[in-house]
Amino acid sequence: MLVVMDSNSSPDMVTHVCREIEKLGLAANPMRGTHTIAIEASGNATLVDPQCLLNHPGVKEIVQDAEPYRLVKRQSSPERTVVAVSGVEIGGKNLVVMAGPCAVESREQCFAIAERTAKAGAKIFRGGAFKPRTSPYSFQGLGENGLKVLAEVRERFGLAVVTEAMDTETLDLVADYTDIIQIGSRNMQNFSLLKRVGRKNNAVLLKRGMSATIEEFLLAAEYIMAEGNHRVILCERGVRTFAEHTRNTLDLSAVPAVKQLSHLPIIVDPSHGTGRNDLILPMSRAAVAAGADGLLIEVHHDPARALSDAAQSITPDAFDELMHQLRRIGHAVGRALP
Ligand code: PEP
Ligand code: MN
Repeated sequence: MLVVMDSNSSPDMVTHVCREIEKLGLAANPMRGTHTIAIEASGNATLVDPQCLLNHPGVKEIVQDAEPYRLVKRQSSPERTVVAVSGVEIGGKNLVVMAGPCAVESREQCFAIAERTAKAGAKIFRGGAFKPRTSPYSFQGLGENGLKVLAEVRERFGLAVVTEAMDTETLDLVADYTDIIQIGSRNMQNFSLLKRVGRKNNAVLLKRGMSATIEEFLLAAEYIMAEGNHRVILCERGVRTFAEHTRNTLDLSAVPAVKQLSHLPIIVDPSHGTGRNDLILPMSRAAVAAGADGLLIEVHHDPARALSDAAQSITPDAFDELMHQLRRIGHAVGRALP
């Protein structure tokens, strides 16, 4: 942070402001130019809003750091973060595909889908047991029975599991069953949930809020990391725009932008990002070409009868083709899909 002083501030004023900065727990370094005086304030957070410095004589402006997140930022880790989950590494050399239905509907449904996605090379099974639905009359998920089905899928097919925790009440239950806890778009700024998940040992899949800037997205990840859980995987899933041809506008530029700003892995969800099963394949190809560490894909063995997100679910046959094409794109950009 930079505290910019009036150019005619007296040395006493500058010294006074330096003391006030130190009272905030920060180090103060005054810098005198020919026409300007500024004080660099560095160090760790303070609970006091630094804007309070504006109340002292001579202070003209407070310029906050461009990157307000500390643990998330690229420079805070010499290596890129690789999140290891049951032998699968997200953010490493290989691409990781998480696939499965939007909602867990039954054991038979999940087994039918998992058998095909596992065979095609997906390493992680996704499926919601607690579903955040726009309408209270839509299928809300099977709850704990759904989590039990996911545990059976893990056992039977050797897949790791990702599922959403919608609130602090059910977080402990979800955490007991899943490898990766998904924090959905609607909860990206549910700060009490982020803090609680930050105290869990599970890896976390944090989805970008539907109107979140990249800075807000990374600060949400900072909430989790600040509580001690550094196993965070980011997920771009589209943002709300004026466009009507898709459910959301998949912001693929977020992938290289986040990679410049952060060491955390980022995957792409073209299913919610487009809402259209005919766009999943091309947008998946583009995501891998843009540098994504993996994908989250909704697959249903009978999309016409899916209880949620039917229009964006692809069939196991389409998923086979997608994996085949991703291998080729991955090869072109130096990422393998084993
Ligand atoms: C989901 O992954 O099923 C989901 C509800 O996604 P989002 O939070 O991105 O809408
Ligand atoms: Mn869905």
